[in-house]
Amino acid sequence: MDTTAFYVAGVAVHGDDEVTVTHPYDGRVVGRTTWAGEQQVEAAVAAAAEVADRAAALPAHVRAAALDHVSARLGERREEIAALITAENGKPLKWARIEADRARSVFRWAAEEARRFAGDLQRLDTDPGGTGRIAVVKRVPRGPVLGISPFNFPLNLVAHKIAPAIAVGAPIVLKPAPATPLTALLLGELLAETDLPAGMFSVLPVPNERAAALVADPRLPIVSFTGSGPVGAQIRRAVPEKHVTLELGGNAAVLLCADYGSDADLGWAAQRVATFGTYQAGQSCIAVQRVYVHAGLTGFLPRLIDAVSALRTGDPNDPEVEVGPMISEDAARRVEDWVQEAVAAGATVVAGGKREGATYAPTILTDVPPGAKVVAEEVFGPVLVVSEVGDDAAGFAAINDSAYGLQAGVFTHNIQTAFAAHRELKVGGVIVGDVPSYRADQMPYGGMKGSGVGREGLASAMDDYTEPRVMVLTGV
Ligand code: NAD
Repeated sequence: MDTTAFYVAGVAVHGDDEVTVTHPYDGRVVGRTTWAGEQQVEAAVAAAAEVADRAAALPAHVRAAALDHVSARLGERREEIAALITAENGKPLKWARIEADRARSVFRWAAEEARRFAGDLQRLDTDPGGTGRIAVVKRVPRGPVLGISPFNFPLNLVAHKIAPAIAVGAPIVLKPAPATPLTALLLGELLAETDLPAGMFSVLPVPNERAAALVADPRLPIVSFTGSGPVGAQIRRAVPEKHVTLELGGNAAVLLCADYGSDADLGWAAQRVATFGTYQAGQSCIAVQRVYVHAGLTGFLPRLIDAVSALRTGDPNDPEVEVGPMISEDAARRVEDWVQEAVAAGATVVAGGKREGATYAPTILTDVPPGAKVVAEEVFGPVLVVSEVGDDAAGFAAINDSAYGLQAGVFTHNIQTAFAAHRELKVGGVIVGDVPSYRADQMPYGGMKGSGVGREGLASAMDDYTEPRVMVLTGV
């Protein structure tokens, strides 16, 4: 088995210390790479800093051509990439293919945005002092970006860091998650096929303890981090002077409102909650975790139990399997502990509740006391906590009673309830008529409270990586 290279200033290289990547389902070795050494990290950061001015001046057609190339190659190598995502992350092939397709779109949209992105013109003659003046507001890159990505979307969340950087002309140093570096390195290979100048991108596997040095490096003034809350908080404390975007975790909720009671409604909602409470073994920051159901909708829970119990678990390479392993046995043990703790405090397991190796069965809990970890913290596993609420206002209050605020789903047909949810819920996004797990890659995406700071999504990230520079013209 070849050792996969990493990328320093666009060049494929190897380090001295080997990293073995294993399949979360059965522990077999699926690939090898090496850690970037100190000198390689230094070379990557120095090259990013050195190329920054040239990168900012790169013509839009050059940036767009590179992004289009990567998009096309992601399409050509889709099956191989999906298989690699499944091998290192453990998500079923179906979800890995969806991820590969999304990343392809992210690069294509980034190419389109690169052709459009400029800034704007502002009138200044709204006051007498501005008569005859106009402002040209150009957006310029703030400087090289440090992107840090998690294991749960090893391709698409890397795409969300790299594509907007190239689109605006900002060099980027990307640090992938240690459990899933191979997909990010394959993306590095595709970027290396382009005509981007040396230094424009590096993909560096480094162990967590050495990532702090990258965070602290003043030559990387922007940090775009996606990962867990504690690490995000640590980064924010470490570099308050930097421009930091944090895309963190959540304990996403749905509300089934009183009007959502027909057979068709309950069937749709149960199917969506079952699928998106358990997809990727619950390892999505917007997987459904908390389910609030109007007390009158007694038909919902039996349907949800049927839908969850019907999910096939097992080997993620089996096309029939819908729920694969978690990232590691340790992760599944943590979920098992949290469920047992909730049961000891009075919760009832109405589906699932069993672990086999790294696979945790899709699980539904009821009667969970407030404060139990499975409801108050991010479970990041295939566990749904179902509770009754008396009315919509109580449902909104329950959703807001959380340290997090990423997205929420509200099942209603009532437009007034939809507007009320949009007004009242302290989250970054409200999905009406569906689960909170919907994300379109071009829309602003991010959270309130413990779920983060700033927004991702192409246009938002491009704004984030740049700042306005104004030129006032007089005598216009
Ligand atoms: P994690 O915080 O353990 O790791 C994320 C990244 O940070 C990895 O690359 C890791 O190596 C790196 N890292 C760890 N310690 C570091 C340090 N001290 N300094 C710098 N970097 C460090 O998260 P994870 O387990 O890989 O991912 C799961 C988490 O990510 C969940 O909380 C999930 O909700 C969150 N997430 C959020 C979003 C979002 O967009 N809001 C999307 C996906 C995942």
